[in-house]
Amino acid sequence: MNAKAKKQMRMTVQGMTCDDCNRHVAHALETAGARDARADYRRGEAVFSLVGEDTAALGAAVKDAGYRPGRPEVLEETSPRPPVRNGSQDSYNLAIVGSGSAAFAAAIRARDLGARVAMVEAGTIGGTCVNVGCVPSKAVLRASEVHFEAGHHGFAGITTRAGKPDLAAVVAQKDELVAALRQEKYADLVEAYGFDFIPGKARFTGPTELVVDGRPVRADRFLIATGASPWAPPIPGLEETGYLTSTTALDLKELPRSLAVIGGNAIGLEMGQYCPFGRQDHRPRPGGRDADDGPSGPGAGGHRTAGEYR
Ligand SMILES: Cc1cc2nc3c(=O)[nH]c(=O)nc-3n(C[C@H](O)[C@H](O)[C@H](O)COP(=O)(O)OP(=O)(O)OC[C@H]3O[C@@H](n4cnc5c(N)ncnc54)[C@H](O)[C@@H]3O)c2cc1C
Repeated sequence: MNAKAKKQMRMTVQGMTCDDCNRHVAHALETAGARDARADYRRGEAVFSLVGEDTAALGAAVKDAGYRPGRPEVLEETSPRPPVRNGSQDSYNLAIVGSGSAAFAAAIRARDLGARVAMVEAGTIGGTCVNVGCVPSKAVLRASEVHFEAGHHGFAGITTRAGKPDLAAVVAQKDELVAALRQEKYADLVEAYGFDFIPGKARFTGPTELVVDGRPVRADRFLIATGASPWAPPIPGLEETGYLTSTTALDLKELPRSLAVIGGNAIGLEMGQYCPFGRQDHRPRPGGRDADDGPSGPGAGGHRTAGEYR
């Protein structure tokens, strides 16, 4: 290769987490001889141009800046990376139904391989995890844990007290976190990776076509990543009584007087951990053990099938 030729290059960079990291890595690369360096923490890479063959200094500079550089590689003419936006003809290599974590993982990988990708979403971008699952549940559980610990630490000579929880404020803060992460971890990636996001409900009309609100979307391959929704079992009397689901429980603005959690798997256990927000009642449970005779506090409260609020 001509030593004076200008090459477009790419380097994977681990350890970047924010826009500042992008700037630090780009600066380090340019200090080491790269030109037009751009780093992207979401993609974990930097692209730049280089005149000549001296790549040794690049990795050293990135390392000195506190990040973990990979081996620089020349971007081929045919490289799928920064490339082609999707066409406007609504014809794709891959159409994904759903926009949750599974859908995004697939879209990112497909774009890395150079595919034209469309993503269809009937509800809110990001799906379950960021909107009504992992993120909001952990935000509320952490608040609950802090509240519990304020009144239950084990240190002699230290007096702390948990005040009355303001669940509306907890939920408002949770909603802010969800909105920020939805934007940063999902919505922003649509542009960053260059795929098309199509809002609306997907309906198949043929082996190579689906329709979204009347708009045909053709693709060579389809991925169904439609996740799951809360489901209530047919328990006699349940409909008449009324019930919360994991989604609606995470949006309560006031603590319920009492809460029975039906189902003791992961999500049921999380819902049971609302308990530290309220005073746990001492109720006998099957087997004759008192409901509070096991380990207590966040992380343990969930093993009960019913938590009690007062
Ligand atoms: C309270 C709670 C806590 C959780 N905590 C954790 C945790 O800590 N760790 C963990 O790993 N997992 C956790 N999970 C599970 C995790 O959230 C899910 O497993 C994961 O989000 C599923 O992702 P997905 O991409 O498969 O589907 P989803 O994120 O559910 O996305 C599916 C999307 O498809 C859309 N859709 C459906 N039908 C159509 C259609 N016809 N057209 C267009 N769009 C459509 C839906 O609107 C939805 O947005 C939790 C779940 C809950 C409810």
